[in-house]
Amino acid sequence: MDFQELESYFRSLDRSFFLDDDMKRYASLDMPLPIGYEQTISQPSLVLEMTKLLEPEKDSKVLEIGTGSGFQTALLAKMSATVFTVERIGELMENAKKRLLKLGFSNIYFKVGDGSVGWEEHAPYDRIMVTAAASAVPDELIKQLAPGGRMVIPVGPSHVQSLMLITKTEDNEIQTRSMGMVRFVELKGRYGWTE
Ligand code: SAM
Repeated sequence: MDFQELESYFRSLDRSFFLDDDMKRYASLDMPLPIGYEQTISQPSLVLEMTKLLEPEKDSKVLEIGTGSGFQTALLAKMSATVFTVERIGELMENAKKRLLKLGFSNIYFKVGDGSVGWEEHAPYDRIMVTAAASAVPDELIKQLAPGGRMVIPVGPSHVQSLMLITKTEDNEIQTRSMGMVRFVELKGRYGWTE
C-alpha cells in the first residue's frame, strides 16, 4: 500500500461532509461524533490507523462491515479495487451512499443488512474491515477471507475492545494479533450482540 497516497487522501477528505449540519462544526476534533440512530463516525486518527493495518492494495476486493457515515468507506475505496460495504441501518446507508456517489466513487457496492454474516455472494475478500465491536470473531468472516488476506476487527465486551489484526496464510492458517485497545459501538446481528 502507498502510505503517502493514503495520508494525502486522508488529509484532503473533508470530514464535515460526512456529518449532519448540527455536528459539522466539530468535524476537526479527533474524536468520534454522533451520526444519529445511536451510532458514531469514528475518530479520524483511528480510521487512518485501521486502514494502515488493513493494507489494502490497488487490486484488493474489500468487505467493510458498518458503513456508518461512509468516511472509512471513502478511504478504502480510494486505496483498493472494489469495496462491498454493509450497514444494518437503512437511513445511514442512504446518506452514506449519496455522499460516496457525490465524491465520484463507482467501485463501491452497498448492502443494507446484517454484516456479521459477511456478504457471501461476493466472497472471498482480500481484506475485511469491521468498524463495530464483535463479542467474538464471526466464523463466517474468517471463512470469507481469502488466503493471504487480512482482517481488522475490534473484539471484546461493549465498554472496551482489543483491535485484532487477523491474517490468513496461503495455507489457510489463521494468525491473530492484538494491536491495542479501542472502543466501538456494538456489532449487532447473528454473529454479534443481540439486537
Ligand atoms: N466507519 C464508520 C464511519 O467512519 O462513519 C463508523 C462506523 S460506526 C462506529 C459502526 C457502524 O456499524 C454503525 O453504523 C452500525 O449501525 C453498524 N453496524 C452494527 N452492527 C452491524 C451489522 N451487524 N451489520 C452492519 N452494520 C452494523
